[in-house]
Amino acid sequence: MVMGEVPEEADIAVIGGGVGGYTAAIRAAELGKSVVLIEKEKLGGHCLNYACIPSKTLIHISSIFYDSTHSQKFGINAQNVTIDAKKMLEWRVGVSEKLEKGVAFLCKQNKIDVLKGSATFIEKNRLQVTDGTEVIFKKAILATGSIPSNLSSMPFDGKRILDYKQALLMDYIPKEMAIVGAGYVAVEISTLYAKLGSKVHVIARSDVLSKFDRDAVAIVKRHMETLGISIHFGVAPKGYDNGVLELDNGEKINAEVAVVAVGLSPYTDGLGLENAGVETYGRGFVKVDGRLQTSNPDIYAIGDVIGEPMLAHKSMRQGVISAEGASGLGSMYDNVVVPAVIFSDPEIAIAGSVEQSEGITVKKFPLTALGRAIALDETDGFAKIAYDSSNIITGIEVVSPDANAVIAEAALAIEMGATLEDVADTIHPHPTYSESIKEVAEAALGRPIHFFYGGTA
Ligand SMILES: Cc1cc2nc3c(=O)[nH]c(=O)nc-3n(C[C@H](O)[C@H](O)[C@H](O)COP(=O)(O)OP(=O)(O)OC[C@H]3O[C@@H](n4cnc5c(N)ncnc54)[C@H](O)[C@@H]3O)c2cc1C
Repeated sequence: MVMGEVPEEADIAVIGGGVGGYTAAIRAAELGKSVVLIEKEKLGGHCLNYACIPSKTLIHISSIFYDSTHSQKFGINAQNVTIDAKKMLEWRVGVSEKLEKGVAFLCKQNKIDVLKGSATFIEKNRLQVTDGTEVIFKKAILATGSIPSNLSSMPFDGKRILDYKQALLMDYIPKEMAIVGAGYVAVEISTLYAKLGSKVHVIARSDVLSKFDRDAVAIVKRHMETLGISIHFGVAPKGYDNGVLELDNGEKINAEVAVVAVGLSPYTDGLGLENAGVETYGRGFVKVDGRLQTSNPDIYAIGDVIGEPMLAHKSMRQGVISAEGASGLGSMYDNVVVPAVIFSDPEIAIAGSVEQSEGITVKKFPLTALGRAIALDETDGFAKIAYDSSNIITGIEVVSPDANAVIAEAALAIEMGATLEDVADTIHPHPTYSESIKEVAEAALGRPIHFFYGGTA
């Protein structure tokens, strides 16, 4: 701020213009508050510019490329199909730019004052922004997200040792690629580059997708192997030099690039949380209560910066709740489930838990019995449903193409306390993957139609 300049005053200051932050800003503006949104890089944050949207764009393109040369069974004999990586990147970047512009438009229409710069708390109700503005706020919402975690043995260099952002911004297809990590980000990136023709190695400290249902993961692993992905289990990297990744078992892997995808860390660098009385826990996540208020009740925090699950739709929901709370409404973050989708091959989508436990029964329906899956030759998958002794649904998992599109029904059912009967008796459109949810509910009720459980359904 230039000396003598009057600080900007706002009812609500939102720090971070990612999916959580811009959602909070829009909701607060809808509630009639004056809102300042401070973003140091790009509106839309990681999700729109570097993570969710870019990865799904590239996954889609890689599947078109792969399917074009693997569809002989349908009578398609495409030859000399090539991929132009520069053109692919142009499309991927263009999508992010379009979405970023869309967010800017929405901010403008909602009369949100967007400041470009990095914000630091200098007092409990004051922020200094690097563009020179000082902001005095009544309430603030922290939505500064996360950054890729690094490995001391393999520091990112942006050329050969890449984080997930850089791996999704390459203008060439590497011949050989190593991915350190075996969580969903590693699985998605390995699958997409394998489909584009790279020889991919996945370095897994224990197993692939170790936090997910083993039945589902077994299918995904089988497909990864079919794509030629080599999974190295129970090993860690020792270092990467001159195109060679060395593992702690002595093995050496040739890799033009090595992608380190070992998780996300909360991002609070330079925020001056100590000046605002905002406490953190664990690896530096911001501590919040059920209303998303931090240890300073005038400051809320949402999204990746407050911890797991680090997912965009959780950030967006918390954006709405925090904006309502900061605007004087009594909203609580009390959602029962945060659905999750892994855009693997096939996709795994889950809402709630499908683990067998005390008082919970789990039923499974195989895609070998689903018309749509048979038509598309995608029968390696299933739907699972978990329910309690009152038939109330506690979890649904779908492993299939387009599982992303059907899982919202599961989330809605669980949020509403739906029973097996509610789902089984709802007419589902045919022929769709959504029918797998209805079929598994029918099976759980002991009245399966399209699969014979050997008289024990
Ligand atoms: C490869 C990959 C794929 C993913 N795919 C999915 C997916 O398919 N679906 C899904 O739900 N989730 C996905 N995620 C997770 C998702 O990207 C995050 O959960 C989501 O982006 C978190 O949103 P956020 O608003 O909390 O933070 P972010 O999107 O990280 O936004 C935070 C913003 O704050 C800004 N900022 C930080 N500090 C300051 C400061 N001091 N001043 C001003 N601005 C600041 C940053 O520049 C950034 O723009 C994926 C993640 C990765 C890595």
